[in-house]
Amino acid sequence: MDKLGIVVPCYNEEEVLEIASKALREVLTDLISKQKIAEDSFILFVNDGSKDRTWELIEEEHKKYPVSVLGLKLAGNVGHQFALTAGLITAKDMCDVTVSIDADLQDDVNVIEEMIDKFHAGNDIVYGVRKERKTDTFFKRVTAQGFYKLMSLMGVKTIYNHADFRLMSRRAVEQFSKYKETNLFLRGMMPLIGYQTDCVYYDRLERVAGESKYPLKKMLALAFNGISSFSVKPITMVTVLGVFILIASLCAAVYALISYFMGHVVPGWTSLILSIWFLGGVQLLSIGLVGQYIGKIYMEVKQRPRYNIEKVLDGSEE
Ligand code: UDP
Ligand code: MG
Repeated sequence: MDKLGIVVPCYNEEEVLEIASKALREVLTDLISKQKIAEDSFILFVNDGSKDRTWELIEEEHKKYPVSVLGLKLAGNVGHQFALTAGLITAKDMCDVTVSIDADLQDDVNVIEEMIDKFHAGNDIVYGVRKERKTDTFFKRVTAQGFYKLMSLMGVKTIYNHADFRLMSRRAVEQFSKYKETNLFLRGMMPLIGYQTDCVYYDRLERVAGESKYPLKKMLALAFNGISSFSVKPITMVTVLGVFILIASLCAAVYALISYFMGHVVPGWTSLILSIWFLGGVQLLSIGLVGQYIGKIYMEVKQRPRYNIEKVLDGSEE
């Protein structure tokens, strides 16, 4: 029987912690009674340096349910992506399969069963995907959708409308832990792992209590981080722009020379205008070229694993 670990990052979630714990324990009990997961499956609450009573509540829950509720206390606030990573990497040594979910229960806990079924059907990663965004505000919906569009335009592979509600097998987390980069954008990293994946669909609900810990500022930071950590396309765009301006400078040259020979220009204008266009183009192109190398250095220093072996047929398999 596979042991499940549900990882829940929590930042100032005192209002929802007990509700979340109860709902998730019910899911565990249900799955255990259906014999889909091991009896010692657990929920791991990761306290991301909360300033309120979140950690005390986690301790209380752990005392009440020593097997099914576990806690991990980070020494300070490191942000959602890091808190989740800490939880996943800690949990992988204690269980066979993990599910990550937010504390506010906006993601439907009832599809965890479907995720487990898909895991048993041989998938290593199962993405939770939102069907619609009815409960989100107009603003959040538009910005979020624009974000996914922009990401794919920039050549970053992400799963459309998937946040961080996902199942990962132990070996998927193991492989993920080899990505040592500090600019984390989990949603973009998971597709790099490979393995067989699938999706489950659900409606996103309202937060059960408390308020969003992702104000616009953090959302923009996440979006910028997502693009800049996965793509050097912006640099390529500068290079291309440089080339275009050089071409435009040729046109400007023709125009300026014609004007010059027709005689209706003030002295000095032709040489000035030509230098401005030409040098502008050369400069942009050069910056772009330098940028290309910086982009390469950037990708090198990440030291990402270059491949992930799924299976070897060498006679040693059972
Ligand atoms: N969170 C965290 N550290 C932070 C901010 C948020 O661990 O610095 C957690 C938070 O407790 C919640 C999850 O990340 O479990 C998602 O946050 P939230 O629900 O506020 O984001 P939203 O759903 O509004 O995008
Ligand atoms: Mg939320």
